[in-house]
Amino acid sequence: MHCPFCHAPETKVIDSRLVADGAQIRRRRECLACGERYTTFETAELVMPKVIKQNGTRQPFDEHKLRAGMQRALEKRPVSVDDVEASIDRIKAQIRATGEREVDSHFLGELVMKALSQLDKVAFVRFASVYRSFEDVSEFKAEIDRLESSARNE
Ligand SMILES: [Zn+2]
Repeated sequence: MHCPFCHAPETKVIDSRLVADGAQIRRRRECLACGERYTTFETAELVMPKVIKQNGTRQPFDEHKLRAGMQRALEKRPVSVDDVEASIDRIKAQIRATGEREVDSHFLGELVMKALSQLDKVAFVRFASVYRSFEDVSEFKAEIDRLESSARNE
């Protein structure tokens, strides 16, 4: 890392410690050229896998698109922003937990549907009806029944 004072490339780390509950490393550095001291913060970058679309193309995981899709389904429903954000965090954690570098868009859709079914049944139905374009009502009803019985078992 270049010194921000004299731009010399050689700096020495004189102290490292975890901050922000271990989410960051704070480093005190000293420039070997000018002797100035400064602090840097390092945060681990969590790389999300790419999403494989139905047509086979790969796209970067897009959290904004995910949030927008969920918000559309949740429009005018009594669900707090905090609950939606927690749900998005869970979806991201589940995607990362696969350890894959690429995940199928279908897998992502299933995670969203599961999350919405836990947040709000109406939002789930809205999302699922668009996402899956159910072939007939009985198929749709079967899905609702399945969710209700799994909700009871939790
Ligand atoms: Zn310097």
